[in-house]
Amino acid sequence: MGRSFADFVLSVIFPSRCMLCGEPVESLADGITCAACWSALARLPAARCARCYAPVNVPSERCPACREMALDRLRFLGPYAGALRAHLLFLKRKPYVCRRLREEIRKGVATELTFRDVELVLPVPLHPRRQRERGYNQADLLAEEIACALGRPLRRGVLRRVLYTEPHRAGADAWARARSLARCFVVTSAEAVREKVVLVVDDVYTTGATLNECARTVRAAGARAVYGFVVARTLSS
Ligand SMILES: [Zn+2]
Ligand SMILES: [Zn+2]
Repeated sequence: MGRSFADFVLSVIFPSRCMLCGEPVESLADGITCAACWSALARLPAARCARCYAPVNVPSERCPACREMALDRLRFLGPYAGALRAHLLFLKRKPYVCRRLREEIRKGVATELTFRDVELVLPVPLHPRRQRERGYNQADLLAEEIACALGRPLRRGVLRRVLYTEPHRAGADAWARARSLARCFVVTSAEAVREKVVLVVDDVYTTGATLNECARTVRAAGARAVYGFVVARTLSS
């Protein structure tokens, strides 16, 4: 199969072998994992909480995992594992979202009825210093896709990170993390979010401290509802 010049350029930054299984990656659209690993992607739990999509034994309105959650709803494509995890880790190093992941995001967002009343999309901001170091904000790139799929405006800069926090330490407990993020964000234009249904976008949901702090900040500025979307969520079961 012939490869275009663009493919050639991309192949310089991409491995030709799947990061997960080592088999050849046939299409650059698949990014750094092969088609088989994309197909093996773990999906959403079959029995899940209506509010946060955590697996539950009996489908419910609210589960132990979201009792303290500040978001009105949380949605994601699947567990933080396999091809999703590999691509999110890659996105921290290169500002590139492969076509397969873009399609997965668009499909996931478009079929999500909850998001029909979203009026505004906000990426979780990096602190300006961190963004300068990295050169881009990965949540921005994901939020672009989502805003486009929903046909809603993406507003960068409405939510700003004003406190610089050290990168997340493994092992720091959820409470310590939540405390370190208190008053970390500000809304620069209350007018932009007042009485609106806002969707906040990040790459991954682990303890939830970041997205929930964003949700509290946006709600305090007058938003009617705050939903969250991440590509993947860590699920213990
Ligand atoms: Zn593979
Ligand atoms: Zn829940």
